[in-house]
Amino acid sequence: MPIYEYRVVQPPRSQDLDSPTPTVGCETCRAGFQAMQKINDPKITGCPDCDAPVERLISAPSFKTSASEKQVLSRDNLSKNGFTRYDKAGGGEWVKTAGAGPDAIRK
Ligand SMILES: [Zn+2]
Repeated sequence: MPIYEYRVVQPPRSQDLDSPTPTVGCETCRAGFQAMQKINDPKITGCPDCDAPVERLISAPSFKTSASEKQVLSRDNLSKNGFTRYDKAGGGEWVKTAGAGPDAIRK
């Protein structure tokens, strides 16, 4: 399911510099929050904490992983998850650098 980001709708800034911009929303919706929704679910229109009007941000739905690509492709992680990694050794030969597969493969 995609995760959508929402943020409180801020009122337009006042042109009058002497009057402070009113603060809208609570900590949750001012910082923005994420909601996991089905694609066909209706948009959330109010903050779940304070009911201030919120808008869905334009950003594409994201599926976040906690690990970086480098970590995911690390030799330890690959062999832990049952993958075998080969690095090109030249001359059509590939040498195993991680995992439980054959030590080398040849074209
Ligand atoms: Zn709020």
